[in-house]
Amino acid sequence: MGETRHTRVLIIGSGPAGYTAAVYASRAMLNPILVQGMQPGGQLTITTEVENWPGDTHVQGPDLMVRMEAHASAMGAEVITDIITDLDLSTRPFVAQSDSGTVFTADAVILATGAQAKWLGIPSEEKFKGFGVSACATCDGFFYRGREIVVIGGGNTAVEEALFLTNFASTVTLIHRRDTLRAEKIMQDRLFKHPKIRMLWNHEVTEVVGTEAPLGVTGVRARNVITGAEHIVPCEGFFVAIGHAPASELVKDQLPLHHGGYVQVEPGSTRTAIPGVFAAGDLTDHVYRQAVTSAGMGCMAALDAERWLAGH
Ligand code: FAD
Ligand code: NAP
Repeated sequence: MGETRHTRVLIIGSGPAGYTAAVYASRAMLNPILVQGMQPGGQLTITTEVENWPGDTHVQGPDLMVRMEAHASAMGAEVITDIITDLDLSTRPFVAQSDSGTVFTADAVILATGAQAKWLGIPSEEKFKGFGVSACATCDGFFYRGREIVVIGGGNTAVEEALFLTNFASTVTLIHRRDTLRAEKIMQDRLFKHPKIRMLWNHEVTEVVGTEAPLGVTGVRARNVITGAEHIVPCEGFFVAIGHAPASELVKDQLPLHHGGYVQVEPGSTRTAIPGVFAAGDLTDHVYRQAVTSAGMGCMAALDAERWLAGH
């Protein structure tokens, strides 16, 4: 049996939302504990260049997250390398069990466990990740100016990504496994009218093809799901837009979720349905999903927690 630690504010997650919440909660003298999880630094640690973090025209994702951790620690947050495996929000104080055996009790909890893009799960996709394969058009579209791009998916994300990528690409091919899109009609309308976009219906991607040295994408192998026929669609950028999976397992039976698993918060705040529990970042945001918006919500969560604690 591990030790039991009590904290006024427990922050779960070490992405931009968690670290920003830690900075603000520390400056409010709440002595927060932040548990980093299995991906210390969050999603930005798996990318290279970030060009839309205000104040840095150009910063490596992992470097930015090291700086955020240092900032949170310097302000007084206790950053712990551990994973929360169980969270009980039905008792006061709240109780969190960690992988190492430590039990954290907390007066307030800030959930900042993020979301992960879903991937196709084919080996060549993994091989070219960061070298032509991406799951974030806002982040990486700029690198494909004047190039051919393929997007896969049929929901709002895929349509939005395809439309956004027309700002850079010479052509965008949207590949979808059925013959109708799941995206909103208004979005479809914009998509079908766009001169740079072509649709490839009833196809799935079975392989990403490319060069070894330098590592780079030259196309994707598309398979007709009706006839089985395959052909190569040339492209230098391949964007996977088949949905995101918010990391809401810890609370899925305790808090209302929306849009397939995102933690619901009161509009304009980070308050969840349970007083004293706050949610920030990609875990609650199915629309923006950016580092800066996550950081903003982390700030909001710490301020909301501070006010709530002051009243209790
Ligand atoms: P995340 O960054 O997802 O962090 C979640 C944290 O929760 C992780 O530290 C994880 O370890 C922790 N966690 C999860 N479960 C547990 C648990 N049980 N116990 C404890 N901790 C847990 N955005 C931009 O603005 N610009 C970009 O250029 C950009 N590029 C990107 C490139 C890639 C490849 C990807 C995948 C995303 C990119 N994004 C970019 C999006 C950006 O990374 C996210 O919007 C942002 O990281 C979300 O921050 P977050 O704090 O909500 O969660
Ligand atoms: P989504 O609606 O779940 O759509 C995922 C799409 O990817 C579907 O078309 C699905 O095909 C396809 N897909 C899933 N797995 C696949 C695979 N292995 N291979 C090929 N295709 C695959 O996800 P989303 O588009 O990310 O949207 C998630 C939620 O956020 C939705 O509620 C959406 O409305 C919302 N959202 C809203 C906005 C907005 O309001 N502006 C923007 C983005 C997202 P099938 O259709 O065949 O299942």
